[in-house]
Amino acid sequence: MLFQMSEKIIRVLKGVKEPRRAVNDFVTESAHKSAIFRGRHEVRYDICTGCDACNKICPVDAIKMKPLPIKRPNKVPEVSLSICIFCGLCEDVCPTKPEKAIKLSGGDINMITEGTEDALDNFWVRVDVPEEWIEEKKREEEEKARKKAEMMAKKKAEAEAKKKAEAEKGEEK
Ligand code: SF4
Ligand code: SF4
Repeated sequence: MLFQMSEKIIRVLKGVKEPRRAVNDFVTESAHKSAIFRGRHEVRYDICTGCDACNKICPVDAIKMKPLPIKRPNKVPEVSLSICIFCGLCEDVCPTKPEKAIKLSGGDINMITEGTEDALDNFWVRVDVPEEWIEEKKREEEEKARKKAEMMAKKKAEAEAKKKAEAEKGEEK
């Protein structure tokens, strides 16, 4: 008992003698430096399928899907960091392999806003999809659709020719 009390007194005296800073300079020193800190999200629009699974599983509705004018992906996720609780479920559920189209980067620890309502509204992981990439995807999709239509037409013609040949064979008998 006496030992514990003297230990506390020593601790208090030490604290008074060598006060520690209670507040970090958050601009120059990041508050979180844990090795397991998950960091803000990275979104790979080029491998995302637009499946919406990350959005559906998010427990706090921090994800909004940004629409794109192509078929796949027809939307990509954007994350509000002022709502996100960094649970990582969006990354876990993302089906793309071998890389996840959405993942917590682990490294980015500087997530500072001015704290105003406007700043919080803009505190998002935005996905900028280049116009050239969208145009290229559109061309690929058109080419794919054209090839599919050609193949269908060919199959249909072959089936009709086969049917005709069988009918002619039947008439000969
Ligand atoms: S980490 Fe969790 S809370 Fe944040 S966006 Fe992903 S699912 Fe939602
Ligand atoms: S990031 Fe992953 S889970 Fe989310 S829409 Fe894209 S593919 Fe689906």
